[in-house]
Amino acid sequence: MSDTVKAPAPQLIQGATGDWEIVLGLEIHAQVVSNAKLFSGAATEFGAEPNTQVSLVDAAMPGMLPVINEVVVEQAVRTGLGLKAQINNFSVFDRKNYFYPDLPQGYQISQFSQPIVGEGIVHVELADGSVREVGVERLHLEQDAGKSVHDLHPQQTYVDLNRSGVALMEIVSKPDMRSSEEASAYVRKIRSILRYLGTCDGNMEQGSMRADVNVSVRKPGGDLGTRAEIKNVNSLKFIQQAIEYEAQRQVDIIEDGGEIKQETRLFDAGSGTTRSMRSKEEAHDYRYFPDPDLLPLEFDDAFVARIKADLPELPDDKMDRFQAELGLSHYDAGVLVAEREIADYFEIVAAGRDAKIAANWVSGNLFGLLNKDATAITDSPVSAEQLGGLLDLMADGTISGKIAKDVFEDMFASGKDAATIVDEKGLKQVSDTGAIEAMVDEVMAANQDKVEEYRGGKDKLMGFFVGQVMKASKGQANPGVVNQILKDKLSG
Ligand code: MN
Repeated sequence: MSDTVKAPAPQLIQGATGDWEIVLGLEIHAQVVSNAKLFSGAATEFGAEPNTQVSLVDAAMPGMLPVINEVVVEQAVRTGLGLKAQINNFSVFDRKNYFYPDLPQGYQISQFSQPIVGEGIVHVELADGSVREVGVERLHLEQDAGKSVHDLHPQQTYVDLNRSGVALMEIVSKPDMRSSEEASAYVRKIRSILRYLGTCDGNMEQGSMRADVNVSVRKPGGDLGTRAEIKNVNSLKFIQQAIEYEAQRQVDIIEDGGEIKQETRLFDAGSGTTRSMRSKEEAHDYRYFPDPDLLPLEFDDAFVARIKADLPELPDDKMDRFQAELGLSHYDAGVLVAEREIADYFEIVAAGRDAKIAANWVSGNLFGLLNKDATAITDSPVSAEQLGGLLDLMADGTISGKIAKDVFEDMFASGKDAATIVDEKGLKQVSDTGAIEAMVDEVMAANQDKVEEYRGGKDKLMGFFVGQVMKASKGQANPGVVNQILKDKLSG
């Protein structure tokens, strides 16, 4: 993208022994959009009754064999292309062995040394408008586990296998982030890209996207410290909180003469703290080995090329185009491209119209009412075409900008077209000079003293006269015509 990438500005923590730098790497688990699971035909819909979306493969019945879901493979390649990453035409599925009651196979099928996607790059926009580059280490495909339900019975734990075998993409970043803001902006950007691509719905509340956050601290420019991994953080706010708490905790321990243990920790949203879950296992503890039930995954360049030809315009490219071709500011473009649905809506409003005015109306007036009602843009009571119609009435002078704001609120409440509301309420702007002249005469007659002051050199009173005439016309007089007639009459 055209915006300059800046070096990270570390978020420093002040300790008794001086400043400390936070070093962050993220592993994002993103559920792949697909009707079926990674190796079975069972459904993946959210919110189904427990254990209603479980095939014999997902329940790990003896003798069942996994069969790769081609759609999921395409989605992983599509995502890799969206992350500007290396696509590996040859990759291998491995068994990652561990015991858990909601993992009936006794292992997770994942990818270890040969993932489907290699290194990539993500551009991350920060609140101050600067752009950072975060490296992607790899993306691999793996199965999700089931869910243990502990709160339905005082003595028993239930197991729901609906999620067992659901396809996940694990996107591993390099330890390139230096502040909690960067980490949260990175997750937001990944979510935006995946939604544009249609490869993950990015719904963090439903668990279809969650992040493991690796946190360590070091003296600026020093060697990397030992990291702790905070598991399954499922909101942008929690990611920031978890990082800030954890970094401070590590600084306090080191400065007290202690050592950081490499471990897996849990974030407690209630208290905003992290606590130890288990000492961190090493890769060799999992006894990874290639899954003998699955052949290596192999595809050719034509397969990748076909998917590439089908990619939508992604947020970075859209951002460049909105600035270069439509003349939008960096900030406005950033707001409008964050979600594909918003960008699509905006482009319909802007088509054949003034793009900056369209941008202001979408990100100002429309967002204002949508936020107030907690409504998504896809459910907006005013369609993009209808908003365009309102802008047309302003552009051709039928209504003033001030009236347009009222009309828009009516449109939002009623779903009616702008033209209908303007007709019904008789809001057409008055440009008829005769009618305006009459109003000007009335205002001047009622304010003789001010007319004298104006003629005596108090130019500033012009604003007062315009205001009075606009008020007399209930906002419907054409302000340009009002100004002209006032100038003529007052000088005469
Ligand atoms: Mn994983």
